[in-house]
Parts: sequence; C-alpha cells; structure tokens
Amino acid sequence: MKNLLIVLSGPSGVGKGTIVNRLLSSGGFSLSVSCTTRAPREGESEGVSYFFTDRQTFEKRISEGGFLEYSEHFGNYYGTPKDFVYEKLKYSDVILEIEVDGALQVKRARPEALLIMIAPPNEGELISRLEKRGSESKEKIRERVKRMDYELSKKNLYDYTVVNDDLEEAVKEIRNIINSAKANS
Ligand code: 5GP
Repeated sequence: MKNLLIVLSGPSGVGKGTIVNRLLSSGGFSLSVSCTTRAPREGESEGVSYFFTDRQTFEKRISEGGFLEYSEHFGNYYGTPKDFVYEKLKYSDVILEIEVDGALQVKRARPEALLIMIAPPNEGELISRLEKRGSESKEKIRERVKRMDYELSKKNLYDYTVVNDDLEEAVKEIRNIINSAKANS
C-alpha cells in the first residue's frame, strides 16, 4: 500500500477545517503546509498555518519549479511546496486543503492523487450563514458566493463529492473513501 496524496476542497464555510482536524486527530495523516503571500491572520504562525512569504520569493520558487501546484486567489498566491509534501509522503498519507484550480493541477501532475470535494447540503443555507455572520460587506459576500458556484461547478472533475450534512457521517464517508483507495493502490 502506497501513501496517498489526499486533496480536500470545498467552498468557504462548508466545514473543511473541522473535517481536516478530525482526520488529523485520528492519526495516520500529515497535513501539507502551503506557502502564501497573504499576511498572517491573528493566531496564525509561521510553518504551522502557512509559510508566509513575499511575492518576489514566491515567484522565484515558481520559476524554479518548487511547487506541486499554485494559484492566485483573491489577490494572493497560494502554493504547495513540492519538497515539503514529498518528504511527508515518505512516512504517511498527506492531506492538502486547497482550492479547485490547484487541486486540478495536482491531479494532472499526480493522477493517483485522491480528490474529494466537500459540498454543503444546500447552497442557500451556506449563503444565509455567510450573511448572518455579519462580518463581511455585501460585496465580499457576493464575491464568496460567486466563488462557491465556481468551486462546486468543478466537482465532476473530482474523484468523490461528500456532502457535509452531518459532520460525523461526512468524516466516516471520507475515511471509507481513503481506506478503499489505499486498499486498491
Ligand atoms: P485562506 O486565505 O482563507 O487561508 O485560504 C483561502 C483559500 O486558499 C482556501 O480555499 C484554501 O483552501 C486555499 N489554499 C490554501 N493553501 C493553498 C495552496 O497551497 N494552494 C492552493 N491552490 N490553494 C490553497
């Protein structure tokens, strides 16, 4: 059985972070740490949340072929460092929590990667949750909804789509998908 590259994507607010934490706490998985040019948010730390870098350094690394994938998202670069992920992959399955454009690049580079889209039970509910949060302007919410539609429009290119209706069920379903992919690898 080979170690797997597992790519999880899904629109913002769908509960990806919670699902990833559940998978990590059950053991047997490592999490990829991405590079980004966005500024750290409160509580985020270097090398744990992200490797924070400037655009020049990021672009240099692109030209050196240092990323397994990268994309520009809301004005910032995000990318998966090749050496970091390949090193982790020697010892365990590795989870990448990245957006769709990057995920599809991973699939092209590594067709054996397992792509799982996490979808909301209904889009309307996710939108009203975003609106109720009240922390963002109407414009920002519109941007997020557009992005959500875009992300979900790519789900047919993923190996699996898991609807996060019930957290425990979604985690169980993802574990089953991973186990059967491993059994067949
Ligand atoms: P945030 O800025 O909220 O941490 O992340 C914004 C988006 O970038 C999320 O959808 C997240 O999944 C995605 N993302 C994080 N790291 C990477 C990466 O290495 N590559 C790509 N393509 N997307 C990423």
